[in-house]
Amino acid sequence: MTIWESPSQLDRVEDRRGDDAWVAGLWASPQARVLAVSEDGRLAWADDGLDLRPVSGARDERHLLAGLVGSVPVFVETGAELPGAPVLRTVMDGLDGADLQVAFTAAALADWHRRAGFCGECGATTVTTRAGAGRLCVSCAVEHYPRVDPAVIVAVTDADDRLLLGRQPVWAKGRVSVFAGFVEAGESLEQAVHREVFEEVGLRLGPPRYFGSQPWPFPRSMMLGFAADATDTTLTLDETEIEAARWFTRDELDAALEAGEVSLPMGTSIAHRMITAWRRRDLRR
Ligand SMILES: [Zn+2]
Repeated sequence: MTIWESPSQLDRVEDRRGDDAWVAGLWASPQARVLAVSEDGRLAWADDGLDLRPVSGARDERHLLAGLVGSVPVFVETGAELPGAPVLRTVMDGLDGADLQVAFTAAALADWHRRAGFCGECGATTVTTRAGAGRLCVSCAVEHYPRVDPAVIVAVTDADDRLLLGRQPVWAKGRVSVFAGFVEAGESLEQAVHREVFEEVGLRLGPPRYFGSQPWPFPRSMMLGFAADATDTTLTLDETEIEAARWFTRDELDAALEAGEVSLPMGTSIAHRMITAWRRRDLRR
């Protein structure tokens, strides 16, 4: 089981975070840690991991309570100046467990708060509420909460259990992956699976089977993984989106990886997890 299939190691303390005195107590705790995030998504970083520093100074609007990791309160400090620090995407493969969940949560929260300063209902200013879980309009009192954009990601196999991998023109040379796209308004996840695959490679599919999900805070996606069998193997590519696509047997993929002809998505991605599951004959669960 991956961390995304298990209970979160970050307890969001939903039942208590509305109690400001309790949150002030967390901030005052000697165990409390703060992770700084810059406006442009850089994370405080020390050598080979998140730079989770002891809390100092007064708590203000910039400080969001991510939650508790065990008994350690973890806050996010938004709007920090972090010249030279890395963005999440470049370092996430080096993170695991609670640190990866803290980093994803910090990036997602910081990005949403940065954009949610004005009420979508009336245009007035919003302020942080529930220790950073939401924002409250100072005029019409509507509460706003972080949005996620659902996206489907699909591992397409054929009757011989070959896997279809494609590449977008903008990707690094040789990078291949499974197929993904955003869910549109009024559409089910399964309909998005059928539509995306037909648009990108011209294939019709049997019933999509749910694989698993993963947050993808770039800036605010939720990746919903599916596997599906294609009804035939003839590809018709949408070349603006897909530069090339090819059916691989496991041996062919091993050989192409070995020869350096192709490379796989980042280890932290659900795409990597899906491709790995197929390589282990574990996609059909
Ligand atoms: Zn409002």
